[in-house]
Amino acid sequence: MFHKTLKMDSTHFETLAIRTQTERTQYREHSTPLFVTSSFVFEDAEQARALFADEIEGNIYTRFSNPNNNEFIEKMCLLEGTEDGVATASGMSAMFTSMAALLKSGDHIVACRSIFGSTHQIITQILPKWGITYSYADIKKPETWESLILPNTKMFFIETPSNPSLDLIDLEWFGKLCKKHNIISNVDNCFATPYLQNPAKFGIDLVTHSATKFIDGQGRVIAGCILGNKELIKEIRFFARHSGPSLSPFNGWILSKSLETLSVRMDKHCQNAQKLAEFLEKNTEIERVVYPYLPSHPQFDLAKKQMKLGGGLVTFEVKGGLERGRDFLNAFQLFSHSANLGDTRTIATHPATTTHSKLTNEDRAAVGIMPGLIRISVGLEHIEDILADITQALAKSARK
Ligand SMILES: *Cc1c(COP(=O)(O)O)cnc(C)c1O
Repeated sequence: MFHKTLKMDSTHFETLAIRTQTERTQYREHSTPLFVTSSFVFEDAEQARALFADEIEGNIYTRFSNPNNNEFIEKMCLLEGTEDGVATASGMSAMFTSMAALLKSGDHIVACRSIFGSTHQIITQILPKWGITYSYADIKKPETWESLILPNTKMFFIETPSNPSLDLIDLEWFGKLCKKHNIISNVDNCFATPYLQNPAKFGIDLVTHSATKFIDGQGRVIAGCILGNKELIKEIRFFARHSGPSLSPFNGWILSKSLETLSVRMDKHCQNAQKLAEFLEKNTEIERVVYPYLPSHPQFDLAKKQMKLGGGLVTFEVKGGLERGRDFLNAFQLFSHSANLGDTRTIATHPATTTHSKLTNEDRAAVGIMPGLIRISVGLEHIEDILADITQALAKSARK
């Protein structure tokens, strides 16, 4: 299904992200055009037969495949080190499809408790309707995970770094645990992106993404993908082809362009985040700063082992609890107040009153969400302006 035009043998991230490209058309375009078409014509009856019989590769109908989406997926496979993949209309359709395509009634899934909110809803509210049961694993107690695996456990789903507490899971260890028990390991790699971390290189079976975040990185599209080995993706592609969570070619086109700049954007996100984390750690109005590449992070060594840099998210606790946290957020002049992340614009979120407001104080504390906890998705503005906004917001929201 792929039409690489990269003639040189390169393994470099930047080159693969830029030079992997759909075959040129008769117009000899330099940059890949947009293929806004719902279907493709057959050359003759024999070609149509062979395409439908899966004897040859080619586009039939955009619900199945499209040159823009193929280019996006081929890049993602090369960047993550996987054999094959499927593009989806959102991160959530990627998570759902990766589970629904491979699990059946009577199966059991284990997931880390610290996962994205809607993934939590799929596992606890939707899959059980079809007789798929679940258990939750505590990210702070990996030594207890093996005991959660049952004879009917088919999949183990995790996110690392976790949201918003930025705890890490050792991917090499996790991959081995799943192999030992012959269960499918599924890692949502949205926070790290393929630039910082490649779960497949640690033996992980499925790598899922919300491409809405850093992969687009400019707050324009909703999209996702599922990547893995040929056998698993074959089953997932069958499910997706017939149930239809397809990505629009326009979004596939945007994402393939976005990947061309992912490395420079992530370098800068991480550089700004590192400086912000170091700045906050020195501030006496801040209780605690969490960032994987701070030596004070309890898993700093693991972060260095499996992540190229520390990522674009920083979380910290302002002194003064819930009220101060709220006042602090209201005082920002530059930062956007939004629940999103992975944008050129710096975004501040107060999990206790937004994304995690439905939990009780005790439940929030159990996943590390203190009342004064603030999550910053560090953008690409000048670092001096980012630090200045924090400084003025701290002053304006002085403790009462
Ligand atoms: C945003 C997000 C998702 C969901 O992705 P959508 O593109 O919004 O559907 C899944 N996982 C993580 C970690 C996310 O941040």
